[in-house]
Amino acid sequence: MAKRDYYDVLGVDKNASKDEIKKAYRKLSKKYHPDINKEEGSDEKFKEVSEAYEALSDDDKRAQYDRFGHEGMNQQFGGGGGGFSGAGGFGGFEDIFSSFFGGGGRMDPNAPRKGDDLQYTMTVSFDEAVFGVTKTITIKKEVTCETCDGSGAKPGTSKSTCKMCSGAGRVAVEQNTPFGRIQTERTCPTCNGTGEEIEDPCNNCKGAGTVTKDVQIEVTVPEGVDNGQQIRLQGKGEPGVNGGPAGDLYIVFRVKPDKRFTRDGDDIHFEQPISFAQAALGDEVKVPTINSEVVLTIPAGTQSGKRFRLKEKGVKNVHGYGYGDQFVTISVVTPTKLSDREADLFRQLAEHSGEEINEQNENFFDKTRRFFKGD
Ligand SMILES: [Zn+2]
Ligand SMILES: [Zn+2]
Repeated sequence: MAKRDYYDVLGVDKNASKDEIKKAYRKLSKKYHPDINKEEGSDEKFKEVSEAYEALSDDDKRAQYDRFGHEGMNQQFGGGGGGFSGAGGFGGFEDIFSSFFGGGGRMDPNAPRKGDDLQYTMTVSFDEAVFGVTKTITIKKEVTCETCDGSGAKPGTSKSTCKMCSGAGRVAVEQNTPFGRIQTERTCPTCNGTGEEIEDPCNNCKGAGTVTKDVQIEVTVPEGVDNGQQIRLQGKGEPGVNGGPAGDLYIVFRVKPDKRFTRDGDDIHFEQPISFAQAALGDEVKVPTINSEVVLTIPAGTQSGKRFRLKEKGVKNVHGYGYGDQFVTISVVTPTKLSDREADLFRQLAEHSGEEINEQNENFFDKTRRFFKGD
């Protein structure tokens, strides 16, 4: 089979930057890495990707390849010997792997591993968030197969030693590199390094040891929780591997808005409509709060937009740091339907306040005039 073009292998443009090449390589090598991908042929793909990266990540080699193609690579680097001075590049390639697996080098496939964490977005009402509630949610998640108790082997049978690697978990492979053929060891593709093989897989989980199931979980929504906040339910994630602990379940809260109240952290905002007369003469009005209601004194001459603070009438802080406040913003409502009597009163009012405003204006113009005349 003819060798594929290195740029095609990585899926990048001929003019791709070093960064783009590195990104493409990271993505593909992760996809085909034999520790991760168990599909047939992923092995070959992985080698191909590694080789393409070896060539294109090095400026000299890349230039050589651009000019002469695969032939150029063989002439320059084939047959070992002198070409090996550039082996520093190999270190870089190993480094990238270490970074995938948390810097710990190779992953032991039989070591206990924590299960995956899960995330669930839970929508709650305004009141449920403010006061807290306990609810049951249903999530789909991987659980340990009950039929085989997670072993993956049919009940009554057991795993056997992997024939491919005789239980070592690793096999020797010859690898074509730009520096020649190198013999290396790598994870056994048959058993993925576990050294064991399931000959008779469990019917229920097909040998996986886990099955996907709808699971009901009780969630205590903390009092005062706000939109976007999350809680962690330890051990409610996916099951661990090789006896490792289960992952965690993160519940992210989405809080529905309320018709009357607006929430800003622990503070509550509320708009209280009042009439012209109440604004002008002052009054006492009942204002609803999240808990009950309070009587608010509106002083005479209150303007629309005036804000009052009801101390500690807001939401209880989710971490227990006291209560927020409630802010009441006054909105003076302009009447839309007037009786004859009301209209008459407003006209009288208009005449009176019109005079007041005219007087103020005249005074202002007089003053301005005098100012410019220099009187
Ligand atoms: Zn094996
Ligand atoms: Zn099973």
